[in-house]
Amino acid sequence: MTTKIVTKEYIPEAAKCLNEGGTVVFPTETVYGLGADAFNADAVKKIFVAKGRPGDNPLIIHISDISQLPLLAKEIPDNAVLLAKEFWPGPLTMIFKKTPQVINEVTAGLDTVAVRYPSNLIAHDLIEQSMTVIAAPSANLSGSPSPTVCSDVVDDLNGRVDYIIDGTGCEIGLESTVVDVSDEKVTILRPGAITLEMIREFVPNATLDGGLIDNDKIPKCPGLKYTHYSPNADVIVVQGNMDNVRKYISCRVSPDIGVITYKGGDYPGAGLVLNAGDNMTSYAHNLFTYLRRFDKNNIKTVYAEFSVEDGIGVAVRNRLYKACGHKIIEV
Ligand code: AMP
Ligand code: MG
Repeated sequence: MTTKIVTKEYIPEAAKCLNEGGTVVFPTETVYGLGADAFNADAVKKIFVAKGRPGDNPLIIHISDISQLPLLAKEIPDNAVLLAKEFWPGPLTMIFKKTPQVINEVTAGLDTVAVRYPSNLIAHDLIEQSMTVIAAPSANLSGSPSPTVCSDVVDDLNGRVDYIIDGTGCEIGLESTVVDVSDEKVTILRPGAITLEMIREFVPNATLDGGLIDNDKIPKCPGLKYTHYSPNADVIVVQGNMDNVRKYISCRVSPDIGVITYKGGDYPGAGLVLNAGDNMTSYAHNLFTYLRRFDKNNIKTVYAEFSVEDGIGVAVRNRLYKACGHKIIEV
């Protein structure tokens, strides 16, 4: 299949392709998404084929207007109304009891549906002009880090989708926060840029899913049980007092070794050193594209400097711990 790699001027053409059952990759404020018409089972199946995604991992449906929500959600609880008013459009996905119209191919047979209203303007215009709602997981091959720049999408999906729209976006760099509002107990199933603290301002008794805290419990978010976000390189997280972190990594540098520094560590002699920045917001923004860059440079082992922090730090920790297969050194 030939993939058309285009800029936003081609949104009308790409939207028509979605309407006719094709697949289109588009930028969002979180990561790039791989979209298809959520009401067209054959189109949705193309997403799973293009990504090599397991069929039991459900997709998020993206809307371009709040008026589309009742098509998908059987009930819209008060807590969902509060959260939608505050955080939509934006990087928040909510899980609702589904209407009968939502097809099993999207929900992997669950009786709930995940819905997001993205704020990115390219995403918005594309969905609106497609005249439908769009099922879209992250636009990577299953198992590899989500793409946050167009060249990473092209590496994974060129020849496997109809269109890739190259655009600015992905300011956040991690996938959306997933919050289950389908029963009275509001639970965060996947941490993201909308943090537990932000949600608790509106729903004070909201909690994090136990599977996110306790390694022995299975996460309720089906996607989080898979090894995800993992580059080919071995990733080892080193956390604790930053002086100790740097001493630990410095003893191990060689040209095969890569390092993600946090707040600017210096590692002469390492193969590739990438600076995640001075705060967890910039760590989130850089993490996935850095993991891919180590692979492109044939780095075999990556040490990631890390410090445990609240806010979006919880989401960075979740993705980084998954990328390293829980190889974490406390110093
Ligand atoms: P992705 O868009 O690739 O980040 O994947 C979507 C994420 O949303 C996956 O981790 C899914 O498991 C999760 N998800 C989608 N639908 C549901 C649902 N009905 N209940 C719980 N999690 C869901
Ligand atoms: Mg994904």
